[in-house]
Amino acid sequence: MNCHVCGSISLKPIMHDGQFALVSSDIRPVTGKLALVVCNECGVLQKVIDPEWLTAVEQIYVSYTINHQSGGADPVLFNSVCGSAPRAEILVSLLKNRGGLKSQGCMLDIGCANGNILQRFAQHFSEWSLHGMDRSPFWRETILAIPGVDAHYSSLAETEGQRFDLIVMSHVLEHIPDPATYLRELRGYLT
Ligand SMILES: [Zn+2]
Repeated sequence: MNCHVCGSISLKPIMHDGQFALVSSDIRPVTGKLALVVCNECGVLQKVIDPEWLTAVEQIYVSYTINHQSGGADPVLFNSVCGSAPRAEILVSLLKNRGGLKSQGCMLDIGCANGNILQRFAQHFSEWSLHGMDRSPFWRETILAIPGVDAHYSSLAETEGQRFDLIVMSHVLEHIPDPATYLRELRGYLT
């Protein structure tokens, strides 16, 4: 295997003999034992994509429940720049304060889930055309009901030649087995 980030083949196994408790991204205990390595080049700690990992991931996603401890609501973060606010509000505010975005444009939110980011973005950038993408169709109708949202996709292939001025991926990259390749692919979808 190669490092998920830099592609190096110089990886050091981390022996843990199952003593680490595993928790899924939607904050539930996970049974099983996953192989871990650390990259000698870039230092990133990462999981090994093997049959055990693929099985564990399938089990997690089949009943994935986003933010279940808050009934699906966006978690509130405490940030030295913005104070306390829902996570999506902080992310969109940081994006807005950074500048450079026009009053009109086309935005794609990859891993949009139940639409926390799209809703906040629509409030700050009401003239943008918004597009959501998620491998799960579970929130499709919820997403399409958000003002400004024009499409919901389950994959990049479904965008059919659409190009975007902005692509957002919040808490997504760590779910993608080969993030560097995926980011390079996304460049082709940007204006
Ligand atoms: Zn690396």
